Amino acid sequence: MIKKLLNRLMGTSAEKPKFGKRRVAGFKEHAINLDLVDERARHVVLTLQERGFEAYIVGGAVRDLLLGLKPKDFDVATNATPEEVKSLFRRAFIIGRRFRIVHVVYGRGRDHEVIEVSTFRAYLESADAEQVSGSEKTSKKALSNVSHAVDASGRVLRDNVWGPQDEDAARRDFTVNAMYYNPQSQEVIDYHHGIEDAKKRVLRMIGDPVIRYREDPVRIIRAVRFAAKLSGLGFSIETKTAKPLQKMMSLLADVPQSRMMDEMLKLLQTGHAIASIEQLKKLSLQKGIYPLLDVVVDRSTQVFVELALTDTDRRVSENKPVAPSFLLACVLWSDVRDAWDRHLEHHAPHPALQEAIDEVFYSRIGDVSGRGKLASDMREIWLMQPRFEKRVGSGPFTLVEQARFRAGFDFMRLRAVAGEIPTELADWWEDFSLEDDGARADMLDLIKQSTPKVQRVSKHKTVVQNGTATSPDDGAPRKRRRRRRKPSADAPPHSEA
Ligand code: ATP
Ligand code: MG
Repeated sequence: MIKKLLNRLMGTSAEKPKFGKRRVAGFKEHAINLDLVDERARHVVLTLQERGFEAYIVGGAVRDLLLGLKPKDFDVATNATPEEVKSLFRRAFIIGRRFRIVHVVYGRGRDHEVIEVSTFRAYLESADAEQVSGSEKTSKKALSNVSHAVDASGRVLRDNVWGPQDEDAARRDFTVNAMYYNPQSQEVIDYHHGIEDAKKRVLRMIGDPVIRYREDPVRIIRAVRFAAKLSGLGFSIETKTAKPLQKMMSLLADVPQSRMMDEMLKLLQTGHAIASIEQLKKLSLQKGIYPLLDVVVDRSTQVFVELALTDTDRRVSENKPVAPSFLLACVLWSDVRDAWDRHLEHHAPHPALQEAIDEVFYSRIGDVSGRGKLASDMREIWLMQPRFEKRVGSGPFTLVEQARFRAGFDFMRLRAVAGEIPTELADWWEDFSLEDDGARADMLDLIKQSTPKVQRVSKHKTVVQNGTATSPDDGAPRKRRRRRRKPSADAPPHSEA
């Protein structure tokens, strides 16, 4: 008792908080369909269990399985250390500094799959952690070789102390994200009434939400993401969990840019972009999370941006790939156009567009280091746009063979749907991309003939002649050779390839 009092006075606590009561739910209660469980995740669990380790499918995958949804990825939690995990698999890589985990990789190329394996983490009081002045950005040296560290505000900068399962569960964010599923025994281990909350359709933060958001402000964005993803199933954020969100949003300013960008893209590219924007508005978080996200929310009602967001949601629901470069190119297109107009006063069209693009990158995206591909893909999509309007000479032949043609074309197609350019132009390019070279040449001939020509008839009289699809000699429409090429339109439109 005296020790407890002393600890309290000293501001330390030797006594750990309660970690929830372990409850085991059998198949009858959870009714998880094993067919929805990824074979490779089961293989990882089995391999670890055969070596005598504890291993479970954990987190969002269990939540989704419990709700009858097919998880998009699988995480595994184990009491094996990262080194022990790595030694058991042929292609396994230890990654991360703040949070060390192992990526076990199966398959290659587009079909490859990564199972993330994390070691059970110990619950640690922030007061017991190494306190580092400054942030992740400014304290790299102080953080090396430290397994548990926080900054002055209580934000966790290193979280690599291993511990028992109950402590691991307590450190997770929402009760529905903190369950463990053993596919061998078909049991779900639940310490925080996750099953009950899933039934009640409630997103509840484990522990005191204020402390949990302070430890990791990104949980604020995660709350929005899960509320959006699960809103269709009737979920909402519990009042106590929702209340501090807006007030604590400013803590996100200290989160490294790259993590913020990743979290923003998860909001927008996991199939719930429109629902996420709705949630941001509903929770009064529409401004202030991240400057680029503010722009997205702000423009989400503009026809072109709304189309891009809806299209992204549709593609994800159809299991098609989506690229951040495409969506961001759509969101920032009006900036590029405005800046282009301005630069046209002093430059030729192409350099003017390049100047405009540089300006938009600088003002909206800032430092793109480490995101070179994102930036170059966006640039390419934008630079292609004026080329779609030039249907003469060899230009269209080169354009259509460009590796990123499909992304540029999809972008142009959206501009047409939004009414920015004629639909006919998009249809024409669709046809052009499907034809062989002979038919493409014919298509260009037709364009040449149908382009209004100014013909001098007499010294004082000019006529505009519209030679639509007529040959000069007989006046009959010219026959087009329509030999379809290999269906290149099957290539994933927004893909980063
Ligand atoms: P998704 O379906 O989007 O993948 P998820 O819940 O699986 O959702 P992940 O980011 O894959 O989310 O994380 C896996 C699990 O790790 C979470 O379910 C949660 O238990 C835990 N987790 C991830 N990020 C945090 C965090 N910032 N704070 C606490 N726990 C976290
Ligand atoms: Mg996940």
